[in-house]
Amino acid sequence: MSNVVLHGHKFRIKISAAEIQKAVGDVARQINTDLKGKKPLFLAVLNGSFMFAADLMKKVNIESEISFIKLASYNGTSSTGKVNELIGVNEDIKGRTVIVIEDIVDTGTTIEVIVAKLKEMGAAEIKIATLLFKPEAYTKSLPIEYTAIVVPNDFLVGYGLDYNGLGRNLADIYVLDYVADQKK
Ligand code: 5GP
Ligand code: MG
Repeated sequence: MSNVVLHGHKFRIKISAAEIQKAVGDVARQINTDLKGKKPLFLAVLNGSFMFAADLMKKVNIESEISFIKLASYNGTSSTGKVNELIGVNEDIKGRTVIVIEDIVDTGTTIEVIVAKLKEMGAAEIKIATLLFKPEAYTKSLPIEYTAIVVPNDFLVGYGLDYNGLGRNLADIYVLDYVADQKK
């Protein structure tokens, strides 16, 4: 499919399924080399990373575990303000090598919160593996160890990423087609 329509907006193909698979394979190879013998715990951030996590883990061949986490954001009391809670960390992560699997690192705000919480819980070493990275939007200094694909500052959907809930099931990654969208 070269074009898709989601909630009435046109998107055109940007990164093919084949390109994605090749980039995911490259990340898996680096991880297999770097983390052999460390018995790492992968923590995939839901919902967006589910497809990347599945494809990545099929290519990871070192002894490792995977679990799924979610960053829940809600409004606390007037004194606590906005509260972020990391849910789903059921394993004892003290002293372990943890790899956070993300769909996309944009400004870096989300990953910074997640890494801080995992540090508090006692992880010995935390690395980030992201499918997509937008360096032009990134405002943090945390190193992103494993990036499958570097992308410009466009709005992307597909392969786990959604537009208001739609598009996560697409095997390719699409970008909002501003020109076609204006002509409607
Ligand atoms: P952050 O700015 O904290 O790094 O990214 C926050 C979240 O914004 C990401 O986890 C992702 O859910 C969403 N996001 C950022 N850029 C895009 C994009 O291009 N497409 C989609 N669908 N979501 C994005
Ligand atoms: Mg995300």
